[in-house]
Amino acid sequence: MITKTFTVNPFSMNCYVYWDNNTHEGVLIDPGAYESFEKQNILQYISSNKIDIIFILLTHGHIDHIMGNKWAKENFNVPVYMNKEDLPLIERALEQGEMFGVSFPQPPIPDKYINEGDLIKFGKTEFKLLHTPGHSPGSICFVDANNKVIFGGDTVFQGSIGRTDLWKGDIDLLLNSINSKIMTLPDEYIIYPGHMGETTVGFEKKNNPFLNGEYDRFV
Ligand SMILES: [Zn+2]
Repeated sequence: MITKTFTVNPFSMNCYVYWDNNTHEGVLIDPGAYESFEKQNILQYISSNKIDIIFILLTHGHIDHIMGNKWAKENFNVPVYMNKEDLPLIERALEQGEMFGVSFPQPPIPDKYINEGDLIKFGKTEFKLLHTPGHSPGSICFVDANNKVIFGGDTVFQGSIGRTDLWKGDIDLLLNSINSKIMTLPDEYIIYPGHMGETTVGFEKKNNPFLNGEYDRFV
């Protein structure tokens, strides 16, 4: 499997193309492309590698993750999957955009709602879904157990965690999601987050101040 990262839009969000270099089947995760050159770069990469995009997958509904959804849906014409609890964020995306001073076309309503334990198969690859609320109520993670990879959205970052001051954010819920569902995976799992560089479960267990016990001493 190949993971290609495109860091896009004014929020420096990581859009991922995750694909099988044998079957050439893949998925587009969080298509937050904003500028036309960002969209061009992604399209160019997908066409030059002859990747067949099977699904568009959303880790959650914040604007930096969905501002390119209309473009992606029109280009690839494949189903968009997300968790239903973030639907209000999609419905009010343009309002969210105004709050942050960015404008973009209204993202389409997702085609299918996915939840804890669901399996998403494309080619020989399988994602298992984790529902990990706290950053947003519908935050989900995509886990490829065969390749020991997790696409974590804005749950856990290298040395940090997702913000919880937005709509329905909840720090206790987020820490519980991370500790009970992500940090219980084996140490060698690679985490591809929604912002900043990749990390591993083992590294965060040891070094992340929110997860290694340091944070608890201050609250
Ligand atoms: Zn977010």
